[in-house]
Amino acid sequence: MRIVLLGPPASGKGTQGRRLSASLGLAYLSTGALLRENVANRTPLGLAAAPILARGEYLPDDLMCPILADWLVKHDSGPGWVLDGFPRRMPQAEFLDQWLAENGVKLDAAVALEAPFDELLRRTRERVECPGCRWSGQRPELSEGDLCPKCGHPAAARDDDHEENFRSRHTEFTDLTVPVIDFYQTSGRLISVPASGTKHETAAIILSHLNRPDSSLKIEI
Ligand SMILES: [Zn+2]
Repeated sequence: MRIVLLGPPASGKGTQGRRLSASLGLAYLSTGALLRENVANRTPLGLAAAPILARGEYLPDDLMCPILADWLVKHDSGPGWVLDGFPRRMPQAEFLDQWLAENGVKLDAAVALEAPFDELLRRTRERVECPGCRWSGQRPELSEGDLCPKCGHPAAARDDDHEENFRSRHTEFTDLTVPVIDFYQTSGRLISVPASGTKHETAAIILSHLNRPDSSLKIEI
């Protein structure tokens, strides 16, 4: 099964992506995590990406698309994959379709998470994240300094989570990613999922759309 996850900032793409991965045995790509890892390891890609990411910008397609192709080649032989953070804009969606066609495979679904702006802003203000494994929670259940329930690292407010950053990313989503959602809608591959409920509710809706209402719902992510 091959899935892309789309949605505005703070809509829960990371949480749902990891959950789908665990539920369906899919390889999971968070482009954000992959880039942070490359920056931390000072790879050639990381060195090229670091100043761009430090400005809070996304990587240009000529850097991002080859990274994605490389990842897909390594991960396409198994049960499938779920992408979080790609495609972010139309040239990337076209690149992915071209890659799928060249490899004689198809995308099963583009899952678009939907939540109102005010709800996303509230989540952004309340989000706390583990710098170790990127598990995230919301105040008041999790506060800065609390130990991550997954890996034991002290949690912290996300450094990119200030409101201004959220607003600019949301505008970018509207301008660049909404056309991608329309593109998948037009080609009959879109699943729209309301994401205002709990992460468990959202996961259940996604799985039912994928015709996999199975025991994996018990998996805690
Ligand atoms: Zn952790």
